[in-house]
Amino acid sequence: MKTYDDIISFHGHSCPGLAIGYRVSARALKELGGRSEDEELVAIVENNSCAVDAVQVMTGCTFGKGNLIFRDFGKQVYTFVRRPSGKSVRISVNLIKKTEPADRRKAWEKYLKGDRSPKVMKSVHDRKAAKLRHILEVDDKDLLSVRKTRTAPPPEAHIYTSLTCDECKEQVMEPRARIKEGRTVCIPCFEKEA
Ligand SMILES: [Zn+2]
Ligand SMILES: [Zn+2]
Repeated sequence: MKTYDDIISFHGHSCPGLAIGYRVSARALKELGGRSEDEELVAIVENNSCAVDAVQVMTGCTFGKGNLIFRDFGKQVYTFVRRPSGKSVRISVNLIKKTEPADRRKAWEKYLKGDRSPKVMKSVHDRKAAKLRHILEVDDKDLLSVRKTRTAPPPEAHIYTSLTCDECKEQVMEPRARIKEGRTVCIPCFEKEA
């Protein structure tokens, strides 16, 4: 299994969002078996936060392979589907806000107003580190709601014929081509004003 360090090197930094994606993916792999070298696993993600980078590295469900599907709902919900069985798991993240010490909360408010003094910066850094540690260490049951389901797996990626756009001469895959006044064109050329 990929480690948290593998994910940081892909994403560029460690952050609470990445840690959430790590926890979600680890649980999904535990429920559904190994990582997806090909397209045997599909992830449907309902946000485009840092967490999704962790999902790609951990599960092998990537944008490029077409087995990462983005639904722009702004929710911390992740559904993973195993092909061909359709065995799936829906994981929703509940990050319970803990009450913070008054001095830390005050420093955070100052930071939001633009205060970058060393004292405030240290507190902000400690706050983030504590949140990160919490996400990495908390029990699954206190972070994730997991529902085992069965979902019809989305169709596998197809390989399409390329056509050449009669206007810009660039190549376009057949199902995205348009017909404009009897000529084959790409979508940008189709939408361009005549
Ligand atoms: Zn991040
Ligand atoms: Zn074109």
